[in-house]
Amino acid sequence: MSKKCVFVLAAAMLLCSMAFAQDAKTVIDNATKAMGTLKTVEYSGSGFDFAIGQNVNPNQPWPKFIDKSYKRVMNFETPAYRMERIRTQGENPPRGGGQQPVIGEQTQNQTVVVAPNTPWVQQLELWMMPHGFLQAAAKNNATVSTKTVGGKKYNVLTFTAPNKAKVNGYINDQNMVERVETWIDNAMLGDMLFDATYSGYKDFGGVKFPTKIVQKQGDYPILDLTITDVKPNAAANIQAPAAQPPAAVASATSEKLGDGVYLILGGYAALAVDFKDYIVVIEGPQSEERASAIIAEAKKLIPNKPIKYVVNTHAHYDHSSGLRTFMAEGATIITHQVNKPFLEKVAALPHTLNPDKLAQSKRKPSFETMTEQKTLTDGNHVIQLYHMTGIGHHEGLIIAYLPKEKVLVEADAYNPQPLNATPPNPPSPYTLALVANIERLKLDVNRIIPIHYPADNRVVNRAELMRWVGKTSSN
Ligand SMILES: [Zn+2]
Repeated sequence: MSKKCVFVLAAAMLLCSMAFAQDAKTVIDNATKAMGTLKTVEYSGSGFDFAIGQNVNPNQPWPKFIDKSYKRVMNFETPAYRMERIRTQGENPPRGGGQQPVIGEQTQNQTVVVAPNTPWVQQLELWMMPHGFLQAAAKNNATVSTKTVGGKKYNVLTFTAPNKAKVNGYINDQNMVERVETWIDNAMLGDMLFDATYSGYKDFGGVKFPTKIVQKQGDYPILDLTITDVKPNAAANIQAPAAQPPAAVASATSEKLGDGVYLILGGYAALAVDFKDYIVVIEGPQSEERASAIIAEAKKLIPNKPIKYVVNTHAHYDHSSGLRTFMAEGATIITHQVNKPFLEKVAALPHTLNPDKLAQSKRKPSFETMTEQKTLTDGNHVIQLYHMTGIGHHEGLIIAYLPKEKVLVEADAYNPQPLNATPPNPPSPYTLALVANIERLKLDVNRIIPIHYPADNRVVNRAELMRWVGKTSSN
């Protein structure tokens, strides 16, 4: 190839990339012109929020809470945001988790002041908003393409986020940002779609702002907001909240509950039981970090045996986010049959944004399911698993009873509060269901191990459970 030819080719490529850059810039400029410039904004309204991973069974949407009032102040310059909402119980009777039932009105506040080390996921509320997206697209050298969705043609602006995921913004023929989508890491769902749709644009003081925002994570809504008031460029002096103590490191401690039976603390509680040829663990919760700590502690307590089984109390994400780590370890998951198709899917989902141990090991998971009851025994140790009936928390909720030790392991039916706390009145239907199941199954319970272990690490007995539901213990 001659020198001249190379030069022409290089010039053509340069022109070509400039043309694309200009196109994206034109799209951003036109949208910014149509929507107006926002340095700050305050918007308020009402609607619903939803607790991701807390559905009553794996095929249902996330449970709903009513946001009686909702206000958010955003500062795209500093950048920072503050959210204040008052929420009430949305599911009656309670169905699913997310700390249901909410009694009365619950105030929730969230403040994020972006610092150099603020995780991208926490900043997304800003950069997924229509005006914030356009600013982020301009800053991050977005490219543009066209896409037809549902018969409508969009200019799609795309840039790559710090978490290596694409962020796509759909600009409609009115030059409004109609949808923004990206992907974030979720311990269960892997590369999880996070998308927000914006509709009902209205003019607020020369700025176009949506009056409807729907955010979805993992295919179901997490927020459905109707906006009634928008103050463009309102004062937004958002102060960072007082520094939180650093998150507890998930190092495990343990307590011997009986011969070969160990309680593992230092996070969500778990049990390790020393069967003749292998270890049985009850619960693989929270995260890979917590599951790894439980596995390490179980192997330290019970050396030279493999972990053959891990019992999953239910498929809520906080109780299942360590299961992939146990799958990588080669353990068989014991779960209620309602959870199996979902957990099989979880085992196979791509985790490219944050490859975990299972993604690296590519191990095939194995499952054993149960319906109403199942007994694990080696002839010496006995673990009886029972399906909880009459509880709206989760359709596949399992309790574990160790008859020799008179120990009952339960998740989310009774989450102990400080010892001097006043019992709720009326009692939680979930706690009442636990009492009813203990009675139905005639379990001789001496000690209760709540997976949400009390912060003071106290021993929880049946009398404490009965007191919490306003009854005296029958034994
Ligand atoms: Zn739960």
